Amino acid sequence: MKFKVDQELCVGCEACEGVCPKIFKMQENGKAHVIADPDSADIEADALEAEEACPVQAISHE
Ligand code: SF4
Repeated sequence: MKFKVDQELCVGCEACEGVCPKIFKMQENGKAHVIADPDSADIEADALEAEEACPVQAISHE
């Protein structure tokens, strides 16, 4: 599973990094970026939780 953050939609709330810092990291432009692909079911579940936690639905996966 691969995650993506839509840079246009992200409002920089930091929720995704809070829920799943192994996959989402805030960058200098104030937006979250994907820094890795999940390498275990646990991390994948955390990343899906982060996707749900995003208030503007900026996170998607395929
Ligand atoms: S939760 Fe959504 S809006 Fe907040 S930093 Fe992450 S991608 Fe951006």
